[in-house]
Order: sequence, then C-alpha cells, then structure tokens
Amino acid sequence: MIKGLDRRNLIRSVGALGLSYFGGVGKYDAIGQEGGRKSRSKLILLGTSAGSPPNPFRSACANLVVVDDTPYLIDCGAGTCRQIAMSGISIANVRHIFITHHHSDHTADYGNVLQLGAGAGRLGRVDAFGPPPLQQMTERFFDMIRPEMENRIKDGVRPYEKDIHVHEISTSTVVHQDALVKVTSTLVEHLPTYPAFGYRFDTPDLSITFSGDTGYCEDVARLGKDTDILVHEVQHMTIMEEYLRKGGRNRDPAPFLKHMRETHTSPEDAGKIATMANAKMLVFSHIGPQTNPPIPDAAFIDSARLHYSGPIVVGRDLMVF
Ligand SMILES: [Zn+2]
Ligand SMILES: [Zn+2]
Repeated sequence: MIKGLDRRNLIRSVGALGLSYFGGVGKYDAIGQEGGRKSRSKLILLGTSAGSPPNPFRSACANLVVVDDTPYLIDCGAGTCRQIAMSGISIANVRHIFITHHHSDHTADYGNVLQLGAGAGRLGRVDAFGPPPLQQMTERFFDMIRPEMENRIKDGVRPYEKDIHVHEISTSTVVHQDALVKVTSTLVEHLPTYPAFGYRFDTPDLSITFSGDTGYCEDVARLGKDTDILVHEVQHMTIMEEYLRKGGRNRDPAPFLKHMRETHTSPEDAGKIATMANAKMLVFSHIGPQTNPPIPDAAFIDSARLHYSGPIVVGRDLMVF
C-alpha cells in the first residue's frame, strides 16, 4: 500500500498492443481487471522512447492527460497522431497541446496534430503552449501545407488556420488554467536547448508531473511536490556508455556521453528526485538508450530503487494510469 494512494487502484489498464513486443506485464493486466480507480482523470503514455531515431519497440515522446472527456497532449514526437488513435481518443478532440522543448523527438508530429485533427473534423480553437519560436514554427508549418490545406478546404474541410492560438512561454509559471486543469511549468536543465520545461497538471482528482528532458534538476522535485505520478525521463548511463563504445550511433563517445550526463537523468538520480518530491509513484518514460533488444526493466528499477522506495513503473506505449 502506498501512503494515500493504493497502487492497485492507480494503474487502471494497459494497452495490450503496446506490450506485445515485451511479452506483456501480467501484474498490470491483472490490476486492470480488478476494476480500477473510479476517477475523472487518467494519464496515457502515448510514446515512451527517447531520442530522434525511430524505434521499433517504442513510439517517440508523447503523453495525454485526459480529464472527463477532454484530452491534454504533452509533446508530439513522431507517431503521436497514430498513438492518439490507438489510445481510443479522437484526434479531433485534441485542442490543448503543451511542448516541453524543441527537439524533434518531442515535436515532429506537432504540425500533423493540427492538420490531421482538422481533417478528422475538429471544431473550435486549439491552444498550443511551448517555448519560442513556437509561433514561427506554426506559421511556417502552415506555409508548408498551404497547397494541400487549400485543396482540402475546397473539398469541404473547415478553414482552420485561424483556430490555432500559440502561447509562447519562457519562464516557470502557471501556463494554463481552465475548469478541469491547472498547468504549471518549470525550467529544466537541457542546454543548449533553452528554454526547456517540465509541466505539472493538477486536475480535480490527480496530479501528474512531467520532467520533460532534463539533467538532474531539483526544480522538477519542487514542481512535483507530493505529486501522485512523477513521469520522469531516464537514460541508463552505464548501458549508454557501453553502447557508444561499441560504435552505436556512430558518434565520438566522449562528447556525447558528456551531453547525456548533463542533459539527461540516470535512474539513480530520478529516484532521488522522486524521493525529494515525495512522489507517490515514479513512472519512467522517454527511456534510453534505444537498444535492440530493449534494456530489461530491472536495470532501471534496481538503480532507481537505491534512492526511492515507492512504486516504480517502466513505461510502455499506451499504458493507462
Ligand atoms: Zn527527448
Ligand atoms: Zn531533448
């Protein structure tokens, strides 16, 4: 039993398709069958990979917080539109988008969410939040698709360019608040990409904190104080080092490892942040390095366990909490 939150009731179900590569994680299936938590809010891990190369085992970074029937999308890595469909949510209903930072594993499907959501019949405004130059990116995306967009409009799609409202954010602040959710940002450590953000979502019955991409960052713990679910990025540094020394990614290992250590988080350090935050559950997503076969869950859990005693889940695409 977790203090204040029963783990069996927290994890609601697991998308079986997302698990097939890994042979399933039976205990979560069993927990889902017990009935689950009756609540207004859920977290869906759409994509749990890290880094820009397409990954056969995991889709690129994206998450949904769903309150009642309203989805809030956090990041839009490649494959996000398909993963939204796989999760059972209509992309036409995605009208709030939050970008943590401008790396392609978080943004490659940003424009596609705007475009394909319109094609799926989206009505009304879309609010997109993220670091500069999100406004310019949005305008240039529309320039790129203008010929197809105009043809679609001739074929009956509602004009939608003016529906998109971009909100650039540059600091730690309350980013958005409506009747269902309050979203707060914090600056994180991901140089040279700046600003880069973590986000906290407070709904009527759940708090979920996303680290975004970051090196060890105590501001994530402050943002996530007493959070129900801390979704933290993770890079297994020892396995990454081994992988690079064997020639993975065709890169000079020394500078790349320095970059990884400064701008990403080891499982040990993620465990420290979870304890500092008093998080009720630690969920790893944005999981690296990418290897074939994937790194066993135990490699992440055992390392994080050195510093965090609560439940730890190594995320899979389409897991629902
Ligand atoms: Zn990333
Ligand atoms: Zn990044």
